[in-house]
Amino acid sequence: MPVLPRDRGCGTAAAGCRLWIGQQMRIATFLQVRRVGWDGCTGRDAGYADVVTVTELGLPGLRLAPPGEDVRPDDARLIDRFGRVATDLRVSLTDHCNLRCTYCMPAEGLDWLPSEQLLGDEEIVRLVRIGVARLGVDEVRFTGGEPLLRKGLESILSQVSALVPRPEISLTTNGIGLARRAGALAEAGVDRLNVSLDTLRPDRFKTITRRDRLTDVLAGMAAARAAGLDPVKVNTVLLRGVNDDEVVGLLRHCLAAGYQLRFIEQMPLDAQHSWQREAMVTAEEILARLRGSFTLTPDPAERGGEPAERWLVDGGPGTVGVIASVTRPFCGACDRTRLTGDGQLRSCLFARGETDLRILLRGGASDEMIADTWRAAMWRKAAGHGIDDPEFLQPDRPMSAIGG
Ligand code: SAM
Ligand code: SF4
Repeated sequence: MPVLPRDRGCGTAAAGCRLWIGQQMRIATFLQVRRVGWDGCTGRDAGYADVVTVTELGLPGLRLAPPGEDVRPDDARLIDRFGRVATDLRVSLTDHCNLRCTYCMPAEGLDWLPSEQLLGDEEIVRLVRIGVARLGVDEVRFTGGEPLLRKGLESILSQVSALVPRPEISLTTNGIGLARRAGALAEAGVDRLNVSLDTLRPDRFKTITRRDRLTDVLAGMAAARAAGLDPVKVNTVLLRGVNDDEVVGLLRHCLAAGYQLRFIEQMPLDAQHSWQREAMVTAEEILARLRGSFTLTPDPAERGGEPAERWLVDGGPGTVGVIASVTRPFCGACDRTRLTGDGQLRSCLFARGETDLRILLRGGASDEMIADTWRAAMWRKAAGHGIDDPEFLQPDRPMSAIGG
């Protein structure tokens, strides 16, 4: 069913949509707002929140784009117009969380997604299977919200680990409850874990996350390592004047414990929309502080689509990473494709548009129809996140509802 962006006709046509709409088409004739993707032409990546189903046009109608104009080659993989291939699928299992990190969500939490909109276990596994079997996905990371809050997590993991070919499976978690579940997660198929930890001081942990749970997180990390989930990667967001004096202390702790620390530049993805560039602790600042105590040399290992730039610390083997999404964007090598907990496909964390796979799943679409929609949506992936564009607009969904 053809759909168009709500307020501008097919704005994506100018950028090379496979189908474009005659200029004369009057928006007034669009009827029936729906959140549905069709042939990737949702317009959402171009900045539209909703799409409109065209039901009565009485106008020149749809035609193929002129020959040679940005036509997607026949390729089963998730290719885009800029030569990238997405092989790394991020799946958000829930938008709920048991922490309230200040840079992520407000103290009172958020309006959680209605449960009937959340994908069920079978729906998630089906989409992952389509990704793996038909689209070339070879790595799946489960995240949230807090993925350990998802009932049935271990069952989803076991089913995904039974897929052929088996993808690499990883999890990003805040570590609460990990201490008693690490073994079961490893058994269910998790290969690697990322745990978020912004401070080693209990008082600060409470300030940043608004919960007094530092001990649980540290115990969770140790349990993950003991369960063989190696390497345990640690994600740290630094906040100016709050924990930015712990750069060196956190690295010493992680090196001693055998964890791989990565600092992440704070991104404009908080629900409160309170991000300010000046307040962000930049990669340059982080590296300058580290160089005051360690010798850093670029890690010769291939970076590939890895978001973290890595350095060997004091000659190695210990390393430290910096994910400089804002000041040193790595969009040119991005290999991500994302599914939200309610079945919306996103080509980028910062995309302002989504493609509704849930409606296809629940409407009886075949695997190949879903795969085609997925391919077409990824084809339209934007070149970059555009944080530096004067017209940059933060996505409506916060990080916790997209899946970081
Ligand atoms: N709840 C899990 C956790 O915290 O690890 C998984 C979801 S969380 C959204 C994933 C990662 O995103 C975490 O490492 C978190 O620190 C990071 N994150 C959240 N908000 C962020 C922001 N505004 N900028 C940069 N990173 C952020
Ligand atoms: Fe929860 Fe993770 Fe967001 Fe913190 S960063 S509030 S742990 S989703």
